[in-house]
Amino acid sequence: MISKNFSIGKKINNVLQNFPSLRFRDRDVCIHDASGVIKCGRALSYKALGVEQSNPIDNLGHFRMRFGSWIERGIQYELMSKLPMLGIVTLSTQGSAGEHGTFYGTSWHGFRDYDMGFAQVKQDGSTSYKPVIIELKTKVGIGANFMIKKTAWSKFYKDEILPDTEWGYAQQLGLYLRDAYIKTKDNSKFSQPITDGILLYFLYVDKLAVFLEFYAEYKPETDSTHYYRLHCEQIPEICKDIDLTVNLKDIADNWAKQDVYLKAGKLAPPDYCRKYDVTDERIEDEPEYKLKMAVKNEVVLGDTHCQYCEYKDRCSQDLKLDLKYKASEVKILRSYLTRETKKKGREYAKKKNQK
Ligand code: SF4
Repeated sequence: MISKNFSIGKKINNVLQNFPSLRFRDRDVCIHDASGVIKCGRALSYKALGVEQSNPIDNLGHFRMRFGSWIERGIQYELMSKLPMLGIVTLSTQGSAGEHGTFYGTSWHGFRDYDMGFAQVKQDGSTSYKPVIIELKTKVGIGANFMIKKTAWSKFYKDEILPDTEWGYAQQLGLYLRDAYIKTKDNSKFSQPITDGILLYFLYVDKLAVFLEFYAEYKPETDSTHYYRLHCEQIPEICKDIDLTVNLKDIADNWAKQDVYLKAGKLAPPDYCRKYDVTDERIEDEPEYKLKMAVKNEVVLGDTHCQYCEYKDRCSQDLKLDLKYKASEVKILRSYLTRETKKKGREYAKKKNQK
């Protein structure tokens, strides 16, 4: 028998919460994480200054954060490993990528999910492999639905589906493609430099389990990544040519601004808005349930990044934000709710008339 004080779940949770980081980039606050392109400068400086997290990630948050990568490992183990019989081979996984001071004076580090080779049969019958960088992302639950369609009452509601720039995924693959290009452009082992990439989303929610494929190409002449095609095998009606350009220098420019504060050991200005002013037009895009919660003073409306920030209370305190709405503000928030409900009704009626 095992002692009744023993819990293997407790041990696992301990690993989840307390395992020390051994990452190379953690030694230097100015080495940015490729997957954290959109990270707030103020949050980075709180971390660099050793400020205690006011909102550390709880157990649920830890699981939520890792859920995607666990699914991705399953996809890799169960599905990607069988692709060679279809002419697609994995050249490497978790390839180390980054630059030290050479990215317009800034530094970054990251790991490419997949370096794949797509078999191409030449005229003489021999086979060569076209290297393609694949970045796999997972969205589960409401995020998966939002990827296909934003809320019906959002003013951003549109048919066009683009790769995620708000969370930096499109930028992340852009950085990896730049890195792969630099490493292969004068490399005699490659007949041509790597420029191709796929941002591959796995979306999973009730009644939906699909791969969204965003095809991208690195353009060295402009140091940008062009997303040119969306494909989804299960939803053919959303397959289309797209046109989204990610300028990589913009990322470096943002990091350079943050580095000034990080190097000086000073608090950077916030990159996001913890609390919108009640007259802020972004409030119109908040889903109805959140507006209802705000009216009851149960939630503060602001940028989503702040909701997940480990320093959000400390930040609000430093910015002297009142996280409770006054009666006059609640009145204004309530008016959005009526407006949104009316708008939703109008859209519903319009759709019904079209049928
Ligand atoms: S709460 Fe928002 S603005 Fe403040 S540090 Fe966090 S992400 Fe930045």
